[in-house]
Amino acid sequence: MRILIAEDDAIMADGLTRSLRQSGYVVDRVGTGLEADGAVTRGEFDLLILDLGLPKMGGLEVLRRLRARQSRLPVLILTALDGVNDRVRGLDLGADDYLAKPFALGELEARVRALTRRGSAGVSGVLRHGELSYDQVGKVTEIRGKPLELSARETGLLEILLQRMGRIVSKEQLVERLCEWGEEVSTNAIEVYVHRLRKKLEAGGVRIVTVRGLGYCLEKPKSP
Ligand code: CA
Repeated sequence: MRILIAEDDAIMADGLTRSLRQSGYVVDRVGTGLEADGAVTRGEFDLLILDLGLPKMGGLEVLRRLRARQSRLPVLILTALDGVNDRVRGLDLGADDYLAKPFALGELEARVRALTRRGSAGVSGVLRHGELSYDQVGKVTEIRGKPLELSARETGLLEILLQRMGRIVSKEQLVERLCEWGEEVSTNAIEVYVHRLRKKLEAGGVRIVTVRGLGYCLEKPKSP
């Protein structure tokens, strides 16, 4: 999932970029409306986070142009707290959602997840690892096209590891993320889930490596 952040406030843009990257998104950023307008025409992004108060072309104009080109790219607009009129205009122009500043990063991430899950043209929401595929919308895991039976916790775990493939995820991070799935989880329980998931994934050649003292890492698939 690739996200473009169009935001001229450097501190805000830094914070958003860092937090979204930590969650496994690929993030690019621009500081003017003109650059945002140019970047989205290349069609490389799955989501645009668009501040409305941008220099060199306002956010509403970027949005108007985008929709005039028939782009269905999901757009989350950022508005001032008292910017009710902007919000209404933005939604009228085809924004998918909005957040009023200041907002909690957790809320932004929840909106981002919802929008990227909904998906745009060209984004299937399916994560792949060699012969394994995982549908983020339907929460269905398959190996060589055959459904793999996983519990809700194992599915949650797999999704997190797939989103961060090749990187170490600590037990604490897993606990934190799994709790978003509405579950109470201890770090000891994580060990059990990883153990079970690891066994089930063996058949698909998917390896979860334990990195002592640090956490777990889903190995990238070997290139054929
Ligand atoms: Ca601004």
